[in-house]
Amino acid sequence: MHIIASQERSNPDPRVAGGRLTVDLDALRANYRRLREVAGGAEVAGVVKANAYGLGIDKVASALWAEGCRAFFVALPQEGATLRAVLPEAYIYVLAGLFENGSADIFHEFGLLPVVNSRTELSIWEAHGWDGDVPRPCAIHVDTGMNRLGLSADEAIAFAADNALTGAVTPLLVISHLACADEAGHPLNVRQLESFQAVRGAFPHADSSLSNSAGTMLGPDYAFDLVRPGIALYGGNPVAGERPMLPVATAETRVIQVRAAKAGETVSYGAARKLSRDTRIAVVAAGYADGYPRSLSGSGVPLRQTLAKGGEGFVHGQRVPVLGRVTMDLTMFDVTDLGEEVGYGDWIELFGPNIPIDEAAARAGTIAYELLTSLGDRYDRRYLGAEISDG
Ligand SMILES: *Cc1c(COP(=O)(O)O)cnc(C)c1O
Repeated sequence: MHIIASQERSNPDPRVAGGRLTVDLDALRANYRRLREVAGGAEVAGVVKANAYGLGIDKVASALWAEGCRAFFVALPQEGATLRAVLPEAYIYVLAGLFENGSADIFHEFGLLPVVNSRTELSIWEAHGWDGDVPRPCAIHVDTGMNRLGLSADEAIAFAADNALTGAVTPLLVISHLACADEAGHPLNVRQLESFQAVRGAFPHADSSLSNSAGTMLGPDYAFDLVRPGIALYGGNPVAGERPMLPVATAETRVIQVRAAKAGETVSYGAARKLSRDTRIAVVAAGYADGYPRSLSGSGVPLRQTLAKGGEGFVHGQRVPVLGRVTMDLTMFDVTDLGEEVGYGDWIELFGPNIPIDEAAARAGTIAYELLTSLGDRYDRRYLGAEISDG
């Protein structure tokens, strides 16, 4: 049970938290329904690894369950154990598969389904797997071109032939993962699709699954029996330009001081930003320790290097730029153009409905996935909407 305890996060008292993170569960559920439309008849699983991309696996998974989601993917067995306490009846697949040191016992204890990635893991599961309705249920991961995890296509086909004779394990699902799904025209997509089609034929009794969020947007050829979206559920747009997903996460931070600085003075570490005008500076209680990346440091700061743009916040209906270097716990914004409007105790949006998460990430030279999973534990987390079904 210590596995579960170590995953619990304590929410700070809202009166003393520097930031607040609002997670809109109704928007999450609407995104799930939208993905079900896009996926045609395919089942839509929920990828909830890394604490549901930082947003809280217990609340997120319960909301998806209420929407009819029954299959979930986590990265690690410890995450599967946490999820099991929330959803007693879900199919929980563990992408990292089995570890060599007796992890199969944990899979048994919590009823987790390993996504088996190698012959070695197949042997472990054959020897130590649990028996549900079928002997030693699992998913088989085939690498069709990503060179990350999985059996090669040839290994998988050879294994399928052996296993058809021995029944050593029961593959419920055969999966592969696309490397370039966010680039619809990339030639690797079609190569992976063809390779996957060849492999799935060797597992006539298993369902098959190829697509993450971006793959789901590639159309019905890529949907197979089940799709595995993560980021699109959380409001990230896997493919630019499509009708956007609804924003789910809003990160805000409080202004703890507003100060006046003169033209010619400098702001933050390294004195890297020299002010060209008299400036009102709002200092907020969040920094890179809260997942607001240092690479969002303001314009004129050399460490931004190749990045196109510095960060922007949103307050009183207006965007305001980051000034100088983002620091561990504090960030400065230029609120001069808002006059006296911004003051002590106001809140500045870091990303959310007014600063799309994909834009904030791009400004930082990263992706929405990294922004979400870096948020950390210091936000007061608030959940809007219905986590459980009305009916
Ligand atoms: C993380 C992950 C997903 C979900 O990817 P998104 O791009 O967030 O939709 C699906 N499948 C596998 C194997 C993954 O590792």
